[in-house]
Amino acid sequence: MNEMTASQLWQATLGELELTISKANFTTWFKHTFISALEGGRVVVSVPNAFTKLYIEKKYHTAIMKTLQNILNAPIREVLYRVDARPAESQATQIIIADRAAARPVDEPTAATNDAVTTQNGGVDAFGLRTSYTFANFIVGKGNEMAHAAALAVAEHPGTKYNPYFIYGGVGLGKTHLIQAIGHRLLERNPRCKVLYVTCEQFINDFISAVRSGHAKEFKDRYRTVDLLLIDDVQFITGKEGTQEEFFHTFNALHQTNKQVVLTSDRPPKAIGALEERVRSRLECGLIADISSPDLETRVAILSAKCQERGATLSREILSVIADIVQTNVRELEGALNRVIANHEFHHQIPSPESVREVLAGITQSQAKKSVTSKNVLQAVSGYFDISMDDLLGKSREKKLAFPRQITMYLLRMELKCSFPTIGNELGGRDHTTAMHACDKITKEVERDAKLRADLEALKEQLYGVAAKAW
Ligand code: ADP
Ligand code: MG
Repeated sequence: MNEMTASQLWQATLGELELTISKANFTTWFKHTFISALEGGRVVVSVPNAFTKLYIEKKYHTAIMKTLQNILNAPIREVLYRVDARPAESQATQIIIADRAAARPVDEPTAATNDAVTTQNGGVDAFGLRTSYTFANFIVGKGNEMAHAAALAVAEHPGTKYNPYFIYGGVGLGKTHLIQAIGHRLLERNPRCKVLYVTCEQFINDFISAVRSGHAKEFKDRYRTVDLLLIDDVQFITGKEGTQEEFFHTFNALHQTNKQVVLTSDRPPKAIGALEERVRSRLECGLIADISSPDLETRVAILSAKCQERGATLSREILSVIADIVQTNVRELEGALNRVIANHEFHHQIPSPESVREVLAGITQSQAKKSVTSKNVLQAVSGYFDISMDDLLGKSREKKLAFPRQITMYLLRMELKCSFPTIGNELGGRDHTTAMHACDKITKEVERDAKLRADLEALKEQLYGVAAKAW
């Protein structure tokens, strides 16, 4: 196996792992890792230091092993980890560094540091923008055309008409890509423009540590002097009062001087819980657009573009097969494509519809979940907790009914990806805020309540049969 193929295999593996662990963990542990040897069912993964080695061995070995086997469709005898700090340019998972990044001051950390992880997305430039997240690389179709048109308009007239611009939608649908494209566009037009991209979490952490270390002024200077402020996943600001206050002032300062603010979230402003009213009304006073899942035609177009980006040639028929299997999320769509490419290169095989289906069999199985209907969920919960359907949908707030009801809403959200208003409707015409509250509550409880986790596992098993066991 040559270097190129080992690199693609690792890329595909990382692509899958990325979907299952938090972004922070993924970046921390998999940055600067690569496959340094692969022979006779033995894989050697190089890691940058001993601590990473220990940690990966302990926490991620099983997942890595499983993912590699899945992708190769072949058993793997062993996976070894070796500390090996080769210089970045000779690494198999090399990053493509943008021209602009070369100008990055050496001692200035960038806002985002996850540059070395996924090759297919290119690097991250000095402004924290991923170099591939441009308008040119964004495929427009049903589901995102409004959000895209609005983003173009914002980039055309920053700080004036559409301020703030707020994009919301589900995971992996291109929100981050789109707001970073606005950043790129502004910089193309004026390289001296000050663009700052941060995730909401970074904003919060920055603020907290600035206050703690007595550098509040530096924080203000940093955030209030930019021409374009991009804040990603702003839903995480809920409940953080001090940060909301600072955000409010930052926003006002920028707004008054005609500087553009762009935000993303997984839900519209009015659905973000525990948000100060004045902050909410600020978010609502600009332009709001949503992104929803791409239709088949758009999915094929996205795959075709991604193929071109990485110089792979797959027929339209093959692309349709992939687009048919992965239906909801563009990130997963890319993951599936990587897997197909890596697998066929590895086996020196030309993809056929059958071989592609085989490679993506695991995904097909998880897509089988999609055939579960909301009625199935209601029935499963009512059976599991032994309560009648009328009680489940009824008005009583008794705890023994309210809890199964919340679990129903949670499952509808997590498994069927229902919108909050839909969930409200399904449960006897409840308000969407009730659904949201229930999902947030159960999400929190799942973390610390083992009994609840077991209940959910059992319910899911009922819903999907034994096939879903692995998950
Ligand atoms: P979100 O922020 O909504 O979770 P991302 O912006 O991170 O989603 O997108 C996930 C991946 O899918 C990225 O690699 C992105 O480039 C890609 N992507 C999403 N939508 C599109 C699109 N319309 N055209 C091309 N690539 C897309
Ligand atoms: Mg995002």
